[in-house]
Amino acid sequence: MEEYSLTVLGCSSATPNSVRFPSSQILHVLGKYFLLDCGEGTQMQLRRAKIPFENINVIFISHLHGDHYYGLFGLLASLNLTGRRTPLVIYGPKGLEEIVRFMFQNTEQTLTFPVFFKTLVKEPFTCIEEKKNYKIYSIYLSHRIDCWGFYFVENERERNIKKEAISKYNIGIEEIKCIKQGSNLTLENGMMIPNSELTIDPPRPFSYAYIADTLYKPELAEYVKGARLLYHEATFLDNHADLAPKTFHSTARQAAEFAKLAQAEKLIVGHYSARYKSLDGHLQEASEVFGNVELARDLYSYSPDRNPYCIWDKNFN
Ligand SMILES: [Zn+2]
Repeated sequence: MEEYSLTVLGCSSATPNSVRFPSSQILHVLGKYFLLDCGEGTQMQLRRAKIPFENINVIFISHLHGDHYYGLFGLLASLNLTGRRTPLVIYGPKGLEEIVRFMFQNTEQTLTFPVFFKTLVKEPFTCIEEKKNYKIYSIYLSHRIDCWGFYFVENERERNIKKEAISKYNIGIEEIKCIKQGSNLTLENGMMIPNSELTIDPPRPFSYAYIADTLYKPELAEYVKGARLLYHEATFLDNHADLAPKTFHSTARQAAEFAKLAQAEKLIVGHYSARYKSLDGHLQEASEVFGNVELARDLYSYSPDRNPYCIWDKNFN
């Protein structure tokens, strides 16, 4: 299994159509599953993607427009029915906890597992979770209501030690630990073997920036500089560019400008207005500005290291 991948569950804005569900994504990093937004239909899409609900460790809700969180109630209710015991953390705007608790109280349902709501702060860039292997940041965007993006960054990994070096110099376990962190090796005769001879570079750390609904905010690009995978909303095309500032959204071209400023490795555009039947325009306009663009599509899997592919086999549902 891949160490990291992004699965788009829904990429439509406002209303779903026959092939696009509202916003929802699963980010899989080193065995952890993060759900980014939870539009209506997320459960159905998780089933199609064969991702067990129970696998979800943390949920991030960007903002309280319905197309980004109306699926949360159903998902929590299903987790209840399946007897989840594992605690669940939900990051979201102020008010989300009240809405969810109100819904469950009034339907006389008691959750079988603890839910910890964590309220996002209106700071441009804040570290909200710091673990041994990764950090997660929230990014305060500019939308009609409070809205946040999220940035996942894997920490630098240790250097990989060459197997042949271990046997050649008979390196012990304690020494291996130091060498992986960059130390040189001193032999019994006093000879020094440089680290570069003993190790190879580790893989480049994974990083993923999720820029949800927002007005074009180029000044935020510096926070996600070098992101290996960058999703940016692209609600409109050039021919409706006047609607972007009015509705606090972005165009495909602006998403690409953002990716260029951020020096991202790969850009994924999504959150398409339902008025666009074909997505060719999004690909074309973004590609005019940025070299490595992919279209978000429901039930497609993405990684910086390979081409996207569809994970849903309709014949074996
Ligand atoms: Zn919105």
